[in-house]
Amino acid sequence: MALKCTLVSEEARIPETLSRLPELAYNLLWSWRPEISELFARLDGELWEQSGHNPVLLLLHTRNLEAAARDGGFLAAYERALEALEGYLGAPIRGDLPGPVAYFSAEFGLHESLPVYSGGLGVLAGDHLKSASDLGVPMVGVGILYSEGYFRQRIGPDGRQQEVYEALDPGKLPVRPLLDDEGREVRIEVGLPGRGLLLRIWRVEVGRVPLLLLDANLPENAPEDRRITARLYGGGPRTRIAQELVLGVGGVRALRAAGFSPAVFHMNEGHAAFSGLERMREFVLAGRSFEAAWEEAASTGVFTTHTPVPAGHDAFPPELFWEFMSGWPEKLGTSPEGLWALGRAGAGDAFNMTALAMNLSAATNAVSALHRGVTEKMWGRPVTHVTNGVHTESWLAPRLAALFDRYGRGWRVAVDDPEAWRFVREIPAAELWEAHVEAKREALALVKRVSGRPLDPEALTIGFARRFATYKRATLLLRDPERLRRIAEDPERPVQFVFAGKAHPADEPGKAFIRELHGAAEALGGRLVVLEDYDIGIARYLVQGVDVWLNNPRRPLEASGTSGQKAALNGVPNLSVLDGWWPEAYNGRNGWAVGEEREYASEEEQDAVDAAALYAALEEEVVPLYYRREKSGVPEGWVEVMREAIATVAPAFSARRMVRDYLRGLYLPRLPKGL
Ligand SMILES: *Cc1c(COP(=O)(O)O)cnc(C)c1O
Repeated sequence: MALKCTLVSEEARIPETLSRLPELAYNLLWSWRPEISELFARLDGELWEQSGHNPVLLLLHTRNLEAAARDGGFLAAYERALEALEGYLGAPIRGDLPGPVAYFSAEFGLHESLPVYSGGLGVLAGDHLKSASDLGVPMVGVGILYSEGYFRQRIGPDGRQQEVYEALDPGKLPVRPLLDDEGREVRIEVGLPGRGLLLRIWRVEVGRVPLLLLDANLPENAPEDRRITARLYGGGPRTRIAQELVLGVGGVRALRAAGFSPAVFHMNEGHAAFSGLERMREFVLAGRSFEAAWEEAASTGVFTTHTPVPAGHDAFPPELFWEFMSGWPEKLGTSPEGLWALGRAGAGDAFNMTALAMNLSAATNAVSALHRGVTEKMWGRPVTHVTNGVHTESWLAPRLAALFDRYGRGWRVAVDDPEAWRFVREIPAAELWEAHVEAKREALALVKRVSGRPLDPEALTIGFARRFATYKRATLLLRDPERLRRIAEDPERPVQFVFAGKAHPADEPGKAFIRELHGAAEALGGRLVVLEDYDIGIARYLVQGVDVWLNNPRRPLEASGTSGQKAALNGVPNLSVLDGWWPEAYNGRNGWAVGEEREYASEEEQDAVDAAALYAALEEEVVPLYYRREKSGVPEGWVEVMREAIATVAPAFSARRMVRDYLRGLYLPRLPKGL
């Protein structure tokens, strides 16, 4: 199967001496290897920023190529970047899997220039692919190229969220179409009521892991069908079921069309559960019975669930389900009742995608130890858990990485080994502090650029950035405005807050949170800022450069959470409710716990108790420790918490540890016996 080599090289008139720039641009390795991304920044710094760090757009528009081709310094950097890419691509691949792991997800968050994610679920999927690539685990991702992405967020002067949709031009993204041997774009088809839907396949190179993205925006499809893949989590239930057919059924067909024979099929959330039905259909077509096909498909299936509330799971009412799926019982060699039973959940009269995914996989896992218990209770069946982690090199500030390189050896190739992080305790406080102050300066400069508001570089700065889902309680801190004001406006020890995040367009309570925070920003006169259009790019600055990362979900609704892991890795300690991953990490020295590990009679009581605990933690622990300075100005006690946060969280909550857990506990056991 051919891949059109470079779209860019045809249009961008790349000089011969730099002819391999498109290879560098089309492999997302640049998103976690500064020696490659710095080459693009060096080629055209202004355009690099303007393009949102998109090297494909950069190569198409820069006027600096001819000059760069004559610049000895640039040519040397170009050679080094190529060496980095070649060295990376040439490292050995694990030989213990007979085929790749196919990893299905409705969203992938790899970089801000490829906006096909909404939040933590997508970033987790992106980090999973990157770490599999680092580890040489054969893997192929399957997702959707949304022609309008998620949405860009504007916040009006009244604090109202406005959603702005922009058409993405795939020709300007780091994606290339899959072509057949004659050089034509490959098309696959998925059945919809009374018609077929054609799909194009885009390929993204994530280091050594390819990601296939499906796209219905083709002239051959009817105008309304072209919009099926327009928006992530957009439209109503009809769009949702059609998107899930694209992802699940289309995804398996895309893998076949691209020549992959996966050994394991991993469904990240229930959105991809139709992939199991398509695999059953393949087995039935090859002559198996319904039961045998079910057993075969399930034996190589792995399912990760992320949603601790019943209402969060996709479920389709019978009329809608049968409108789209009427032909499927026959395809699967069963009756309508036989198919319906695969998606039955409790007494509910809807086809439940989580139930389907559980029924079509040999193992289901939750994403933290706490979430495992919640999931088992909700579904009444045993599951396992693999706690989420983050891709170290994507989230670690380059300056801090350089400091780590000076004091430690080997951490980059063993980021999941706690021993490899012992050096952190040897870094002199002044040096670690200085690196943090530098990251903070950059984060506050970003806040100024985005919001126009200058923050105080000396003030304790607390960050809260994630989707504005109501269970995350972004406004908990506002419960007692007077107490908050006293904390923020203390003349000796001021505290300032940065909030950012998007609310789903249909989530009115989530949007109300943004308005409330916006109002608080006015009232607190400069000590609270709400940033608009949160994305991976803004996330990187914030997790690297605020002083404390705040997380106060309504326990136990945060299945894992990962943003706090990114922060801790950068020496930004967590101030967090003991929910999701935090109870596994918190040791009394690497951050602060908010509230208690118990259940409450009402949400009102829980909010009141947690808010009081949050204020108390700030007043009694966080603020005093931050402002306790040595004569040199370095807060030694604080830096000790930073060291502890890095040394304990970086290895245990790395995506490298996570992918290895999946490999050992969930992927390898799926292989045929005797391998
Ligand atoms: C990591 C990340 C998240 C996840 O945040 P949580 O606090 O785990 O919910 C959301 N959005 C972006 C852009 C991220 O990078």
